[in-house]
Amino acid sequence: MFNIDNSFSRHLPQDNNHGGEPRQVQAAFAFVEPTPVRKPQVIAFSTEVASLLDLDVSEFSSNETAAIFAGNKIIKNMHPYAVNYGGHQFGHWAGQLGDGRAITLCEIINKLNERWEIQLKGAGKTPFSRSGDGRAVLRSSIREFLCSEAVHHLGIPSTRALSLVETGELIVRDMFYNGNPKEEPGAIVCRVAPTFLRFGNFELPSSRGNNKLLQQLVDYTIEHHFPHLLAQSLPASEEIYGSWFKEICEKTAYLVSEWMRVGFVHGVLNTDNMSVMGLTIDYGPYGWIDNFDRKWTPNTTDADGLRYCFGNQPTIAHWNLYQLARAVRILFQSDKPLQNGLDHFQKTYKANEKRVISNKLGLSQGTEDDLSLMNKLYDLLELCEIDMTIFFTALNRLDINSPDLSVFDEAFYSNEKKQKNIDAVTNWLDQYVSRVLNDSISKEKRNQLMNRNNPKFILRNYLVQQAIESAENGDFTGITKLMEIIRCPYGRHIDQRFLARRPDWARKKPGCSMLSCSS
Ligand code: AMP
Ligand code: MG
Repeated sequence: MFNIDNSFSRHLPQDNNHGGEPRQVQAAFAFVEPTPVRKPQVIAFSTEVASLLDLDVSEFSSNETAAIFAGNKIIKNMHPYAVNYGGHQFGHWAGQLGDGRAITLCEIINKLNERWEIQLKGAGKTPFSRSGDGRAVLRSSIREFLCSEAVHHLGIPSTRALSLVETGELIVRDMFYNGNPKEEPGAIVCRVAPTFLRFGNFELPSSRGNNKLLQQLVDYTIEHHFPHLLAQSLPASEEIYGSWFKEICEKTAYLVSEWMRVGFVHGVLNTDNMSVMGLTIDYGPYGWIDNFDRKWTPNTTDADGLRYCFGNQPTIAHWNLYQLARAVRILFQSDKPLQNGLDHFQKTYKANEKRVISNKLGLSQGTEDDLSLMNKLYDLLELCEIDMTIFFTALNRLDINSPDLSVFDEAFYSNEKKQKNIDAVTNWLDQYVSRVLNDSISKEKRNQLMNRNNPKFILRNYLVQQAIESAENGDFTGITKLMEIIRCPYGRHIDQRFLARRPDWARKKPGCSMLSCSS
């Protein structure tokens, strides 16, 4: 079925105990089997991810598929394990965290010689579960399953999702930590990535002064996931470590600039939720910008601090990289290579930001003036409560020779704010039109560029919430429908119902604009 090659568990030190009670683990991982569930049922499956894994789904009866991707059946050469990591949560060092409810089944190498790690989220307790139950609820599993694929199809690096399985068991969650626990259906997502290694994997051994394990982890990561950096064989030199850190900075800068392009808010950018591969990872209380608002966060836990709000994501990514730099500092003679990496982040982010704004505005290149033109627009979108996605799609329909504000009608959330600021909007459009008229880019090229960079469809929070509510009543068609639309977010033929701005009822509704880490 799979060409299994478990490089991580083969190369790195394991805990001497298998499975067992929550505890402090000094090793890189601990072997632990998923806890079987009562009645697994596959709700959704991604054929694209199946083909990445060379998986012929027709080979399986649905019962067998469900058993494997619920963790009920372990096939030959799978030796499941949970990985150990720490992390800074909301700015504070939290010590050991680890995969408390994620269990890696195996790594495989596909026909294209790509390495993929296959992991179940919600598969039961591990030595890292602390006081948790190791499970995940259906609502958060639907959110992770759909959004991983939505982000991927937008062209943004992400962990992927193969399957969503309902467990047939109920679990208890207090959704807003306010003394209202409730039973909810449980589910398991099978997720897939080249590796799920996070900044926190390096921070933990460093915090314990375990330099040997730290270096083993770095060497492993470079050898298996950044092999292009190794001119010769290991041990890697300090120069290679520097290039590795710089590349993580570059990948992270690109990733965050892409989130800013489409209005994605991760919601919990703790260092344990930052992938060293520059992937969007750990979909929890994430959200998508409806009315443009740099201070918006869907995460109620962060409602006061706004540490992880939309506009703060680039700054926080840099802060997180600084923590990674501190963790690996011992591998270097001086700060210099790490400082270079951090400076490289700033430079690359700025370059990416210019690329994103020129692409969104349909300009041949992005200058400092264009950055300030875009920032003026962002101020206006905020002031007038304008929908980000609908605005940029409409901007592409604007007739540059005879601009007419009515193309933006659908984008306004407040008629009152629209009327009040109409002159400011007209004024901005005049500046934009004259910038476009002075640009060498052809109309066709401009339209193409804008089409490719301004998605028509984003997985708005309320759309997922509707699919969740139906699924909780046994109707999974909403998930299937969203799976279909997710595949072509820039396409022409999307059902209009999925392109509308957020309805008023969803503005302050739990699940739509208010989410917590409880999942
Ligand atoms: P997250 O907020 O999902 O990034 O999780 C932060 C940490 O809490 C990670 O170490 C998770 O493995 C752990 N965790 C979250 N939910 C549970 C759960 N239900 N059972 C055990 N550990 C959990
Ligand atoms: Mg996490």
